[in-house]
Amino acid sequence: MAFSLYLHYPFCPSYCSYCDYCRRLHDRSLESDFYDALDTETRLAADWIRSHGARLNTIFVGGGTPSLTDLERFARWLEVLRSLFDIPDDIEFSFETNPESVALANLSALKNLGVNRPVFGIQSFNTRLLERLGRIHTPHDSQRAVYYAGALGYRNFGVDLLFNLPGQTSRMLSDDLDQIIDLDPPHVSFYQLAVEEGTPLTDDLKRGRLRLPDRQLVLAMYRAGCQRLTEAGYVRYEVSSFAKPGFECRHNLGYWQGDEYLGLGPSAQSYVGGQRFSNHPDLDRYIQELKGNALPRVPDESGVEDRMTEAIMLGLRTSQGISRAQFSRRFGVPLETRLNRQQYETFIRSGHLLPDKGKLRLSDDAILRIDEITRRLLE
Ligand code: SF4
Repeated sequence: MAFSLYLHYPFCPSYCSYCDYCRRLHDRSLESDFYDALDTETRLAADWIRSHGARLNTIFVGGGTPSLTDLERFARWLEVLRSLFDIPDDIEFSFETNPESVALANLSALKNLGVNRPVFGIQSFNTRLLERLGRIHTPHDSQRAVYYAGALGYRNFGVDLLFNLPGQTSRMLSDDLDQIIDLDPPHVSFYQLAVEEGTPLTDDLKRGRLRLPDRQLVLAMYRAGCQRLTEAGYVRYEVSSFAKPGFECRHNLGYWQGDEYLGLGPSAQSYVGGQRFSNHPDLDRYIQELKGNALPRVPDESGVEDRMTEAIMLGLRTSQGISRAQFSRRFGVPLETRLNRQQYETFIRSGHLLPDKGKLRLSDDAILRIDEITRRLLE
């Protein structure tokens, strides 16, 4: 059996105003403790997983800000990983970076370690918007990072671009898209900024210090982004994911198709051997538990109904849609069992839902209303 591997690297140089991820300010000594714990976790997970097979399909290092990492420790952890798992030579190996911490030296070292798909968290080229988000990189950092990727011969790399930013206008987004398209990355993730409770950004919005674009403008931004990227030769294969043909992210495709994955690091989630669990999100507790040779897992309380819901939500995000056969194989019941019959028929009649070669997918127009349609289908 094969599965994908995700590593959550939990350190950042500072905190962005919109972020509620699991992260801590970077500290060399704490990072060293984290790597000690990660080496132990990797060994324990390999022991546990052996009965399920040990071949990796893809590796994705996310965070946090992985480009801050101590490369020597990262290389040592990779040695541990390679000694325990079967890693094919042509594996897709993604690594998230923040542009301010990308240098020719670390990007080159990562390539030598097997990384073949760096992802640059550009988010925007507008200095004022970047400041509002609490990002510490400049547009120049982003340009330079992508230039380094080209100079080092990375054939595959991705960039992240955000819209729905406080104070953002259509013109600002259009400038961002111009610059992204000029850089010609093989993959673009074009995300709508999510507003999460408890973040400084939410506080600023509640107090009226900042304002987000209204709903109509957000829809217009998404439409404009889809159109510009499509005209530039990208194919939208998931709501927020655009790739030149052949450069779809295999790791994320695996998640959306319900493939299995092992997550390492605090807060990382896993689905292996039919079992689901996540790691404790508190870094100190993660380190402590592994010092005692215990896997820092939090049991997954979700039931089969929740998993069906998740499979439908993820499947509808992709341009391929949900495979009826795969759904029945996985859950032992037809897809319709979990759908609201009346809403299902309404959306089929309106053309928002397309039954297509054993699959069920959303029309292009319906993608713009994905949250509402999914909610109604699952009522
Ligand atoms: S760099 Fe990423 S993980 Fe770190 S604070 Fe910013 S958004 Fe959060």
